[in-house]
Amino acid sequence: MAYKRRADGDDSGMISYSQQMIDEADIEAVVKVLRSSHLTQGKEVEAFEREIASYVGIKHAITFNSATSALHGAYHSAGISQNDEIITTPITFVATSNMMIELDAKPIFCDVKLDGNIDERFIERLITSKTKAIVPVDFGGKSVEIDTILEIAKKHNLLVIDDACHAFGGEYKSKKVGSFADMSIFSFHAIKPFTTGEGGCVVTNSDEYAAKLRLFRSHGIVKKQFYNSDMLQMGHNYRLSDFAAALGRSQLKKVDDFIAHREKIALYYDERFHNHKLFAPVKIEAPIKSSRHLYPLVLSPSLHCQKEDIFKALHVKGIGVQVHYKPLYKNSFYEKLYGRQSLHVSEDFYKSELSLPCHQGMSLKDAQYIADTFLELLEHYSHRGCSF
Ligand SMILES: *Cc1c(COP(=O)(O)O)cnc(C)c1O
Repeated sequence: MAYKRRADGDDSGMISYSQQMIDEADIEAVVKVLRSSHLTQGKEVEAFEREIASYVGIKHAITFNSATSALHGAYHSAGISQNDEIITTPITFVATSNMMIELDAKPIFCDVKLDGNIDERFIERLITSKTKAIVPVDFGGKSVEIDTILEIAKKHNLLVIDDACHAFGGEYKSKKVGSFADMSIFSFHAIKPFTTGEGGCVVTNSDEYAAKLRLFRSHGIVKKQFYNSDMLQMGHNYRLSDFAAALGRSQLKKVDDFIAHREKIALYYDERFHNHKLFAPVKIEAPIKSSRHLYPLVLSPSLHCQKEDIFKALHVKGIGVQVHYKPLYKNSFYEKLYGRQSLHVSEDFYKSELSLPCHQGMSLKDAQYIADTFLELLEHYSHRGCSF
């Protein structure tokens, strides 16, 4: 496919919807560990965990080799098991609810709002005697209405486990996302707010969960004296390596700069797209500060039928838009397990959502090219209309 020349002169490929930024300091940090005696189970992981906890403002951070394994660990440590019901959102990555099913629990999908976050007004009516937890997702990096969700959980004696994979560095009422729920999960996958290549973590204020998570991460084994160790519970090898942790530590120093850069791009888009008749960007308003992992927008119904064409045309122009997400219950695996489901706003959101590139690896000139091209294309497609 031929891509149009990018604003920065680099025409080697697409401007992705999200992308890592690795500098020489990151490379040096990793190489230093590669030259050391401990590639894994050394001191980097512990240091990384202390730094994450301090950044988020929470007692414990327990790293994992992915957010998927971190979710598995969090659900397991919360005691989620067979026949439990967990209220969650269908507008997320499959791992959020897959790891519930892994423990034989059942995800109960709650509809979302037009910002892609769980609609807290619908949670209470889904609670049954089997409900154990609420698992919201801070879509695109925008915090959910966590105060309301915590209140509902408290009233019904439920846990809140926040899938904050998009939202590292985001804030709600001036406190960091991840500091509110019983446990919160971050992802350090390459294209998440900052990266260790693959990686993730659980943050919690609970000593009990932290201890369980550490056991679960490493075979359920505790060291005793000399060569004696004891396996206390079933566990996995879900550990992060020390060179990955070193990359994370180096990246973490820059995460506020990354967020500020994404914020600048997002505000530029907001200005260009203000009051547009054909689409609306997801609004971020006080007391929420988004990590800006995504720049999601929703197309007006008159463009729904042309979304595939718009998507294709943008890709041809080198703009790597993506759609987040197909509602989870529409996947074959879920349909087979639970039958067909349909939630009104989630369906609508899937028809209308597009995520424009917004990341630390692109320039404002890129953003300008994207905004110009996007507006031009929409204008073109708006004249074709949907024939139902
Ligand atoms: C990326 C992501 C995950 C999984 O993260 P990995 O680190 O790739 O395992 C889970 N939930 C959400 C919402 C995500 O975006």
